[in-house]
Amino acid sequence: MPGRLQHKAALITGAGSGIGLESSILFAQEGANVLLVDVNFDNAQKAAKLIQERSPNVKAIPFKADVSKEAEVEASVALAVKEFGRLDVVFNNAGIMHPADDNALNTEERIWDLTMNINLKGVWWGCKHAIKAMRENPTDASKGLHTGGSIINTASFVAIMGAATPQLAYTASKGAVLAMTRELAMVHAREGIRLNSLCPGPLKTPLLMDFLNTDEKKQRRLVHLPMGRFGEAVELANAALFLASDESSYITGTDFKVDGGLSSAY
Ligand code: NAD
Repeated sequence: MPGRLQHKAALITGAGSGIGLESSILFAQEGANVLLVDVNFDNAQKAAKLIQERSPNVKAIPFKADVSKEAEVEASVALAVKEFGRLDVVFNNAGIMHPADDNALNTEERIWDLTMNINLKGVWWGCKHAIKAMRENPTDASKGLHTGGSIINTASFVAIMGAATPQLAYTASKGAVLAMTRELAMVHAREGIRLNSLCPGPLKTPLLMDFLNTDEKKQRRLVHLPMGRFGEAVELANAALFLASDESSYITGTDFKVDGGLSSAY
């Protein structure tokens, strides 16, 4: 049976860990060639090795880039197009949650800027260069390949809900990802370029587990989760795969929530 991303090419940022890693593994299993972008090149290389072992029929290429730097994002997109001949899926997923005391009174300007540069500006650069590349995609109807593509931007449940534990810069950056994605989706809809935000709930990945670094903090967070557990990265990867594939061909401009019911809770 052909894979759900057969013949397609994908670029995933933050591919060395958590959601990005699980998505890269899944996209490759479903037939996509994958460019694995991470500022941590060791982890990107490990991911590429793992993927090549499991999915030897696709290409998995690690690439070191800091998504907050436009030239590095542009270079990653150029490499994907050079290696794969096209770019159908861009998953702008890399992000940070700084452990600093991040509230309105204490957050330092440098923490605000760092967070915005990676979580928001990094997504802008990713969208900008993805859109340029997707406009040029060659058409091969026999393989289901057309111009356009799917861009998925990782936001967060905090983009739509207020968190009592202050993460001001993080929350603001994720809210802006939602707004930017929605607008870009409208602007580029008629070019066949779909853009959706993915809104994860609290997950068992290094990003959150390092932040909730004691059992007490984890238990306090668990009380608010309707399912009584943290999500797994692969549960987000499954949603990203759906948004990346042609199965979601009439879905654009959404904030796709994968949060174990958290955003419906009272
Ligand atoms: P993670 O820490 O496991 O993985 C993040 C990856 O991004 C790492 O490999 C890291 O090296 C990479 N990265 C960080 N800064 C980068 C940069 N400047 N350039 C390139 N790569 C960079 O985290 P995760 O939980 O998989 O998070 C992925 C995304 O999901 C993030 O945008 C995060 O904000 C979002 N998110 C996570 C949760 C959660 O609970 N874990 C909840 C909501 C949203």
